Amino acid sequence: MESRTLRLGAAGAMLAALASCTNTVSHDGVPPAGAAPATAAANRAFTALPLGDAQDFEDAKRGLIARPEGQIKAANGTVLAEFAEWDFIKGEAPSTVNPSLWRHAKLNASAGLYKVTDGIWQVRGFDISNVTLVEGKTGWIVVDPLTAKESAAAAMAFARKHLGDKPVSAVVFTHAHADHFGGVLGVVTPEEVAQRKLPIIASEGFMEEATSENMMVGTAMARRSMYQFGKNLPRSATGNVDTGLGKGVVYGSVGILQPTLVITKPTEEHVVDGVRFVFHNVPGAECPAELTFSIPERKAYGGAEVLAQTMHNLLPVRGAKVRDALRWSAYMQSALEQLGDAEVYFGQHNWPIWGNQRIAEFIRAHRDVYKYTHDQTVRMINAGYTPREIAEKVKLPKSLQAHFGARGYYGDVRHNVKAVYQFYLGAYDGNPANLDPLPPAESGKRYVELSGGADKVLAAARAAYDKGEFRWAAELLNHLVLSSPSKEARELLARSYEQMAYMAEATTWRNSYLTAAMELREGPPKKGVDRSYFIDALSQTPVERFLEALAAALDAGAAEGKDLKVNLVFTDTKESFVLWLENSVMHHRKGPVDSSANATLTLTRPVFVKMMAGTAGVKDTLLSSDLKVAGSSIDLVRFFTLFDKPTGTFPIVTR
Ligand SMILES: [Zn+2]
Repeated sequence: MESRTLRLGAAGAMLAALASCTNTVSHDGVPPAGAAPATAAANRAFTALPLGDAQDFEDAKRGLIARPEGQIKAANGTVLAEFAEWDFIKGEAPSTVNPSLWRHAKLNASAGLYKVTDGIWQVRGFDISNVTLVEGKTGWIVVDPLTAKESAAAAMAFARKHLGDKPVSAVVFTHAHADHFGGVLGVVTPEEVAQRKLPIIASEGFMEEATSENMMVGTAMARRSMYQFGKNLPRSATGNVDTGLGKGVVYGSVGILQPTLVITKPTEEHVVDGVRFVFHNVPGAECPAELTFSIPERKAYGGAEVLAQTMHNLLPVRGAKVRDALRWSAYMQSALEQLGDAEVYFGQHNWPIWGNQRIAEFIRAHRDVYKYTHDQTVRMINAGYTPREIAEKVKLPKSLQAHFGARGYYGDVRHNVKAVYQFYLGAYDGNPANLDPLPPAESGKRYVELSGGADKVLAAARAAYDKGEFRWAAELLNHLVLSSPSKEARELLARSYEQMAYMAEATTWRNSYLTAAMELREGPPKKGVDRSYFIDALSQTPVERFLEALAAALDAGAAEGKDLKVNLVFTDTKESFVLWLENSVMHHRKGPVDSSANATLTLTRPVFVKMMAGTAGVKDTLLSSDLKVAGSSIDLVRFFTLFDKPTGTFPIVTR
């Protein structure tokens, strides 16, 4: 716990007074500060937007059939989501939330079952994404069964309660991100799919991307996504209010099913349970494998996630491979043609739009947000500007700023211009001062020394804070916190981040700043994202992907000079692999076992997946009856203990 008696100067006293006006106390007992004057002024500027415009609010509640109550729980009783926890989002924006974001958070706070048009419904607010139900001849065609088995099952049960009981007749996965397929086992079972020959529809590359996209750096991405989504933040006016795409992600059991109908052509028509779908492949924009679709007879257009009621990320702050802005924009131009005479657009996040003209306007805004960001960034690149300079320069034109549905609630234009820079030129800005700079803690130490010591830096940061220069305060304090941290420095940095959070229009920025503030006070989380939730999905990941990731976990120092070779034999899939060390690198090759190996491990795929997912310790696994060891058990243990087992709790804002 942090000291409650902090010397924050005059502004600190005022902040303390403001804090007493807010009715929320953060989880660690430190009363969160209210908005500083500079924050309040910055937020006031947003009230010039037509925040009272009623159209989006009408759209967000149109077709409401019923609202859910209560909780979504895991089988062991853990509460995964609670509908009432967002009830505080109503009325005028509190001083601690950007007014434009508050408006968006209110729009997303509308969990329920909705009729989109005749024969199409959506369940929203049961997870970060929506599940769409299309009525077929014999049952429901389920589009995107949410992130978790638990949330998907709850959403289906809720829909059935109000729409009547019908079987699932097909499943469509719009893309390979877990919030669009992970809950499938809450909707159908693999046995049901096989027995009833249910079509499971996805685009080319879906399975590979879904099970492997995040395999290599999954640990770091999961850790960083805690910042992006504000996973550990309290839901409150000084905490998490939204994620841009919806409310919270449901961290439950993630599964997957193998598609039985793969869309490979740019456009393909299929009749699914009596309903004509026109699918459009849109890979390599929002997701490496993605499709949109039209249902012409219902005058409906499903935009998957290349369209949402927010500017999207060309590079998520959790980290990912950078996305192609031009391609994304081109898909939007095609979408205008594919729209045809559709009268309703619905996405797999946020709320729909009705009316052909309004939908076209919405698509054009998205097309131009990405193209403008791309083109103006490239223009600045060729004029010699660097990422941080371009981020200050590129502002969307007024005509685009006026589209709430394309504003930066999830993506942010300042972050997206850096993504465009990175797409073409990488992270290095060309200035050799940045070619081989000292690591942050080292340069931090020297800056602090140069400034005359920690007290001087702290005083300068406090003055910057008092003037409302939070970015500068944060930069100064970051040097201090990374090199010679004190409670005062950490607390003032936390407070600076809080002010930056309160001003942020993007949820991803707000959640990042607030999570940073929390971790400055409490340290990194004790637990990482539990990989055992992903077991069902990982069971479909090719062995090669696990072995590539395993090789990248090799402790090269410990492996120096070691010469070990291990055979892996799978009794269920009849595959075998040889793993060996050479030059402190682990290699693998699929093929017959090598008789010169130190040991041979004979096992099944599920046991291997458990071992790789870290849900069973290596030694426990090696000694269990689930597998057989031939050759030297000692060498086998020596081999497997050469690999890191990262916990996913590494520090980000502290050292
Ligand atoms: Zn999504």
